[in-house]
Amino acid sequence: MSLRILEKRSPTQPSTSEGSSNDMNGTALRAQKVLAVLYSGGKYGARNPRMLGTTEQALGLGDYLKSKGHTLVVTDDKEGADSTFQKEIVDADILITTPFHPGYATRDVISKAKNLKLCITAGVGSDHIDLNAANERKITVAEVSGSNVVSVAEHVVMTMLCLVRNFVPAHEQIRAGDWNVAKVAQDAYDIEGKVIGTIGAGRIGQRVLRRLQPFDPKQLYYYDYTELPNEIAKDIKVERITDLKEFLGKLDILTINCPLHEQTKGMINKETIGWMKKGSWIVNTARGAICDADAIAEAVNSGHLLGYGGDVWPVQPAPANMPWRTMAHPNSEGDKFNVGSAMTPHYSGTTLDAQKRYADGTKTILENYLNHKPQDPQNLICEGGDYATKAYGAGKRA
Ligand code: NAD
Repeated sequence: MSLRILEKRSPTQPSTSEGSSNDMNGTALRAQKVLAVLYSGGKYGARNPRMLGTTEQALGLGDYLKSKGHTLVVTDDKEGADSTFQKEIVDADILITTPFHPGYATRDVISKAKNLKLCITAGVGSDHIDLNAANERKITVAEVSGSNVVSVAEHVVMTMLCLVRNFVPAHEQIRAGDWNVAKVAQDAYDIEGKVIGTIGAGRIGQRVLRRLQPFDPKQLYYYDYTELPNEIAKDIKVERITDLKEFLGKLDILTINCPLHEQTKGMINKETIGWMKKGSWIVNTARGAICDADAIAEAVNSGHLLGYGGDVWPVQPAPANMPWRTMAHPNSEGDKFNVGSAMTPHYSGTTLDAQKRYADGTKTILENYLNHKPQDPQNLICEGGDYATKAYGAGKRA
């Protein structure tokens, strides 16, 4: 756990600091308490100033907020009623948290957070916040849209290659001093000639499709309630399928790139996996809970799926006994070099390049709020009691 308090104040104490924020009429905004729930960087965060997303570097916000007379509380301690997160949220005005180590702002947490006005996601994906509860309280929810979409798209293509070419067990074999070409070649294929589809053809989905084109896939498809403009679909050479069963039934490789919300939770389950071809692969870097955890493990362990990979888990950090850690295709034959899994911790969108972009974006959202300036509309998820985007189940403005 790491906790840093830059300026202590009582919840209602107005700021007298010189640099405190002013609204457009010059009225001082009282000193704000900003609570940031981030992942601990440990020695890596302490020694590398580019690890901006860690508790140690605190998104580079420390000096800025202090100079304006605000309070910043930073922690990675987020689970349970006694956690620093749950204790400090009670009088926090602004919550910053990150999908990589999400402080889960449930309805219950939001009801306790009497002063909360703004939730900022340092990254992309705000499903760790109960958005309906936020809307009821007219809490603004903003994320740094686009900040890590290239980072994730690259990870998706890498994971596809790892799975389809059976890279992970091949590499592990070498590390262990073994040499058995046939053992890894029996599950190795090319991406060329495969049918690939994305659920969600937004910023990440489109970038994945573009990066796949040079591999000469047989066909690219997308499933999304938002239709791509014709010229983009033509440019990426992707066709839309609106029926999920038909879509999944055509694919060799499924990539999931939509937000987690009521309609996508558990969308890939025992029944829908059954619509997919035997021997197909799934790459999910969107959110773990879009897939039913047991159904995925069962499909890999039984050999229906040749592999599943990604970096997102239904609960993060993932418990040690989470079945995705150890699932293995039957061709693994109990071997320690498992076929069929290319799972990593949630890090695809937190490369050092991405951390810079989402740290800068978080600061801009904060500055806009503290200076009563409008937010960039593309960053808004909820505002004024309503959804400001169609991406989370279309919201009320569909
Ligand atoms: P985006 O808003 O640009 O695109 C999302 C797309 O999903 C939209 O086109 C939307 O219409 C579509 N969609 C929503 N609900 C759908 C449904 N029920 N069926 C089909 N399509 C649906 O978002 P993005 O920037 O591409 O990010 C997508 C998601 O990826 C994020 O919400 C987040 O959960 C995840 N993400 C993960 C990481 C990571 O580090 N692993 C990083 C960034 C984003």
